[in-house]
Amino acid sequence: MIYPIVKFGDPVLEKAAEPVTVFDDQLKKLVEDMFESMYAAHGVGLAAPQIGISKRLAVIDITFKDDPDATLVMANPEIIRTEGKHRQNEGCLSIPEFREPVTRAQKVTIRAQDIDGKWYEKTGEDLLARAFLHETDHLNGKLYISHISALKRDLIKRKIRKLVKAGEW
Ligand SMILES: [Zn+2]
Repeated sequence: MIYPIVKFGDPVLEKAAEPVTVFDDQLKKLVEDMFESMYAAHGVGLAAPQIGISKRLAVIDITFKDDPDATLVMANPEIIRTEGKHRQNEGCLSIPEFREPVTRAQKVTIRAQDIDGKWYEKTGEDLLARAFLHETDHLNGKLYISHISALKRDLIKRKIRKLVKAGEW
């Protein structure tokens, strides 16, 4: 099932999500649906709050279907190590049409649970490191625009308000 993506302005995007505690068939179905929804929206990462579900759960595939082994499920992820700096344009499915350069760590190690609840650690660099941070931020109710200047952020918010008024958001 493809869920519609929740857009900036919905409070679910700005509150901390609840931990995943049950790893059952229902969760597997949700993860399946999240991958489907992410691909349908042409994204490389999706957090559950982005489909209106306030759970600490995110999916990532920075290869966008190129490598089936690259798909990642992160339940209850924690950032345990960061290193270096990497600046690159960043966007978000919940803030469509906008992109801004964001400085993030270049190398990031997470600790998370997989679909069966098993804890694992994984280190990613560049885009994968960015995805780890971006998606984990989502689960803490934080959006990438909180990492850009207040001036740029206000400009984006103003443009969004216009789009909302025009019924285009
Ligand atoms: Zn996002």
